[in-house]
Amino acid sequence: MPDTNVKDEAFRDSIATVDGKGKRIWVFPQKPKGKLYNLRMLFTAAYLLIFFGLPFIKVNGNPVFLINILKRKFILFGQIFWPQDFFIFALGMVVFIVFIALFTVVFGRVFCGWACPQTIFMEMIFRKVEYWIEGDAPQQKILAKAPWNAEKITKRLSKWTAFWLMSFIIANTFLAYIIGIDELYKTVTEPLAKNLGTLISLVVFTTIFFFVYLWMREQICTVICPYGRMQGVLLDRNSVIVAYDYIRGEKRGKFHKNEDRTIGDCIDCNQCVKVCPTGIDIRNGTQLECINCTACIDACNHTMDAVGLPQGLIRYASEHNIAKNRPWLYTGKMKAYTLVMALLLGVLVWLLASRTDVGVTLLRTSGQLYQEQPGNQMSNLYNYKALNKTFKNKEIVLRPVNFKGTIKLVGEEHLLVPQDGTVAGQMFIYLDKGDVKNRKTTLKIGVYENGKLLTTIATSFLGPFDGN
Ligand code: SF4
Ligand code: SF4
Repeated sequence: MPDTNVKDEAFRDSIATVDGKGKRIWVFPQKPKGKLYNLRMLFTAAYLLIFFGLPFIKVNGNPVFLINILKRKFILFGQIFWPQDFFIFALGMVVFIVFIALFTVVFGRVFCGWACPQTIFMEMIFRKVEYWIEGDAPQQKILAKAPWNAEKITKRLSKWTAFWLMSFIIANTFLAYIIGIDELYKTVTEPLAKNLGTLISLVVFTTIFFFVYLWMREQICTVICPYGRMQGVLLDRNSVIVAYDYIRGEKRGKFHKNEDRTIGDCIDCNQCVKVCPTGIDIRNGTQLECINCTACIDACNHTMDAVGLPQGLIRYASEHNIAKNRPWLYTGKMKAYTLVMALLLGVLVWLLASRTDVGVTLLRTSGQLYQEQPGNQMSNLYNYKALNKTFKNKEIVLRPVNFKGTIKLVGEEHLLVPQDGTVAGQMFIYLDKGDVKNRKTTLKIGVYENGKLLTTIATSFLGPFDGN
């Protein structure tokens, strides 16, 4: 960044919310307003509707979304995923991380400002309630310095109560995603003693959220969030960020009515700094504290309107847009990320499409050798476990694929797997002695439902050591 913009880089030695002695500098951001803020409010409304509404949505009596880590059961968009599908999750995570990297390289921290739950809850819910109870930034500063008189006690107690209640609602919603809305309802309506564990975790999570939104606030984004910390390596000079146009803005100076402005367009009103929830001055250039909330864009546009200068002194732009006055470029780095992303996405789609409704695992019963059987046959005993990943009961049939032989379930005629459940048991595989030529013979078994092959599994058949 040229010298015209930044004369003193000392601000990069520490974050804006910590002073030289390591003490927290409390941020009192001014209430934001403007077109982008209105857009964010609309987006937030849709976001919250989905977030709070999703646990209530069911298809055929089953939730469309459930992340039950405790029971290791996951339902995404109505599809059940079991720990056996972990590799799909792992790949999904890799795709997600590459997507985040690509997205950040191209669009900077748009996610932080518009879609991160931390920003949405902090800036669009808790902060709004705070403004409502304690007033705008100047009143909040006065209140913070005021002695604990009746007004301060009333306002603080009201804020804490409201924050606690909102944290409680958020904690309940997260719990609904984990245990399901029906379980949550049961927990709430049943006697306390029956669900003490759940209740304790609810109180713990409520306390954590309360602490995060009352005290931690922007520190989550600037100090704790790993994504925020990675900005330095993800962003480049072509990334679109919330940027101050220092070419147009500098040399900054106060505005005087009816002046014939010969200096830069920044009138040094400090409005962009006053609204910033992370306490930074965007005119210093890109900083890891910037969550791209766009409050400074709105504030500066408002100032520009007031003094009759064009909007966009602070805007979404890349460093190259501003420094070289050139349009946005789709760079080689972005193309490479897109290619990797497309490949991974392709593999993920293929894995999801080829995922079977029923999974069967087959293991030879430990400690058992082969058994001699009448009719010049021999058998092996196996343990099977079948998993139904759907909400319908399934009847499956196991048939030999690469061998001539018989499969017989122990004590069962049919292999019935209940919906969203598992069934386990034992079975024999019979082979003609003449077909057992090695100590271990690899067998392939088809899993069929209504005559349709769902999947093929492999196992081994143990024969005599000498092959006789
Ligand atoms: S610099 Fe602007 S976009 Fe960045 S956090 Fe502050 S107000 Fe939001
Ligand atoms: S709001 Fe705009 S004009 Fe005012 S100080 Fe910030 S950049 Fe300069």
